[in-house]
Amino acid sequence: MLAQKIIIAIDGYSSCGKSTLAKELAAKLKYSYIDSGAMYRAITLYFLRHHVDYSDHGKVLDAIANINISFVYNEQSRNSDIHLNDENIAPYIRDMIISEKVSEVAAIREVRSFAVAQQKRMGRKKGIVMDGRDIGTAVFPDAELKIFMTADPEVRVMRRFKEMYETNPHITIDEVRHNLELRDYIDSTREESPLHRADDAILLDNSGLTREEQLDIVLGWVQEKSPTPKGAAPQY
Ligand code: C5P
Repeated sequence: MLAQKIIIAIDGYSSCGKSTLAKELAAKLKYSYIDSGAMYRAITLYFLRHHVDYSDHGKVLDAIANINISFVYNEQSRNSDIHLNDENIAPYIRDMIISEKVSEVAAIREVRSFAVAQQKRMGRKKGIVMDGRDIGTAVFPDAELKIFMTADPEVRVMRRFKEMYETNPHITIDEVRHNLELRDYIDSTREESPLHRADDAILLDNSGLTREEQLDIVLGWVQEKSPTPKGAAPQY
């Protein structure tokens, strides 16, 4: 008999490897994976394309009313691509211009209410892994498994640099470092659900772990946290 599905919330600073872990967990458990950061990036892309003055709350509300975000499964990559008003925007949301603005946009109350309401709906049936900054604290405060990830800051800079270098060979390590530091600062000091570790989140420092080791550790936690029907051994 299968273990009952749970909600797995993964939070942490930028470039700690949250999405890598979340994707691998979701694939292994046959859960859905939602990258909540991609939603804030999509909203930022819309604001930039439409020159929305996001210091004006009325303009933010008007803009949000025209935004529809969905995740569409891509057979080729075996991942879900994020769509903004039916356009696949996955290729654009990691650009530096978006990374530079996203934390300011994500700090806006109306933006968060819009994104969080949609994220909560996605978790109704459980069987979901979601990563972000406020998943265990604001989106799913009752998640069965909460993980707060950290990694050595230089390890994080190099990981993000390598990822960005593939699409932008002009990027420098200093630019990446500056962006990560700035986003972490804004994300953890903003008024609306700032990034912090939930009291009941398990700390995972993956600086010295391989992907396989990290996945094994977390699958052990999933097993501990998944309710199983009486007398049955959990199977994954
Ligand atoms: O995860 P990623 O680095 O793509 O997230 C981009 C930005 O979106 C973060 O730096 C943060 O400002 C915002 N974010 C957030 N809450 C989340 C996920 C992301 O504020 N749950």
